[in-house]
Amino acid sequence: MATIFEAWQGVLTRIRTAAATSGRPPESVALLAVGKTFPPEALRELYAAGQRDFGENYEQELTAKAAALADLPELRWHFIGPLQSNKTRNVACQAAWVHSVARLKIAQRLAEQRPEHLPPLNVCIQVNVSGEASKSGVAPAELPALAHAVTQLPRLRLRGLMCVPEPDGDDERLTAQFATLRRLKAALQHEGLALDTLSMGMSADLEPAIREGATIVRVGTALFGARTNPDRNPDKE
Ligand SMILES: *Cc1c(COP(=O)(O)O)cnc(C)c1O
Repeated sequence: MATIFEAWQGVLTRIRTAAATSGRPPESVALLAVGKTFPPEALRELYAAGQRDFGENYEQELTAKAAALADLPELRWHFIGPLQSNKTRNVACQAAWVHSVARLKIAQRLAEQRPEHLPPLNVCIQVNVSGEASKSGVAPAELPALAHAVTQLPRLRLRGLMCVPEPDGDDERLTAQFATLRRLKAALQHEGLALDTLSMGMSADLEPAIREGATIVRVGTALFGARTNPDRNPDKE
């Protein structure tokens, strides 16, 4: 079995290769290591290798791991799971990024609860690009109003858009969904919003995501291995 370090090298190579094939500089795509269900020690190992950005889906797990890894000064936490309004406070205090904002009320709470002494919280709006009724994320038609409202909030910085495409789409369908997110971002930029982030692509589909312009890929399985816990649906809480 590959060590975590070897897996990390392998994922970085996949990212570099996909960027190169798309004519993009390798440093234009950042790796977010998604550690959900894995113990803090596994994340610590990746930090020692040089990984700095870590993603979590569940507020309780984020809080526990942030405490366990509080001695790692350069570690940045990204919250990527569905967020309920009674769970925003710890996230507002601990995370550097929230990728999964899909309602104005949640953004307002994060803005109110973001401590004054910390830099603004970077946020992405999660968009439901697959149209599946069960999916988290704002509908594309409602995105512009939400995006403009979020940019008005203090202590938040709207960076871009995030999506989780339908799980068993073929390459063509995935590509179409990633392209939708890219076009939605371009349309908001055209309306004057300064966005620089497309958070899309996971272990199985980071190549098509990078072809369509991903700037952050969120990778769990390819780094840490298969999740053995009965995997809670990543898109539900
Ligand atoms: C779990 C999860 C990931 C990572 O998925 P893998 O397929 O394990 O790479 C990325 N994004 C979100 C929102 C997730 O819940």
